[in-house]
Amino acid sequence: MTVREFYEMPWIGREHPVFDLTNTVVVGAGPGRGDVDFLADPGLTAIWRERAGDRALAREPLGALRALREPLRAAVDAQANGEPLPDPVREELNGLAAKAPVALRLDADGDLRREETAPGAGPALAREALVLLAGEGRGRIRRCDAPSCGMYFLRTRRDQAWCSVVCGNRARATRRRA
Ligand SMILES: [Zn+2]
Repeated sequence: MTVREFYEMPWIGREHPVFDLTNTVVVGAGPGRGDVDFLADPGLTAIWRERAGDRALAREPLGALRALREPLRAAVDAQANGEPLPDPVREELNGLAAKAPVALRLDADGDLRREETAPGAGPALAREALVLLAGEGRGRIRRCDAPSCGMYFLRTRRDQAWCSVVCGNRARATRRRA
């Protein structure tokens, strides 16, 4: 990934909301090819919050974001590897999601509104993760294997190995050079 792409974080706010939090680590893109963690660098955290937009997740305190990211990454990583979720991860997400009741309200126009009643964004995101993992994510979550990426995504083709066209081009160019 080029430095420019990296700071623009074009993948944040574009995929499933769960990936907005899991995809805050760029694999092999740091000095000495270590990983770059957006939640470990105040400048990158600020850009990430901006990219995440006006959703509750963007306003979540840093400690809560880090704590929530751990089971979410473990869960999507297991699915990307075709493995069952580790029991403690599954239980943690189940427990978190149980703290996110949704209130239904009928408004004056006769429309039904869903309102999150839990304080903070964590429980609702955990609930969305359960729906993703058991539903559209099942068998479709992949981890991009292009150099300097490692983002999780929902594949749209069976053989899709990269999260984006940019990553596909970079991976092919690297292969040609090798
Ligand atoms: Zn990628």
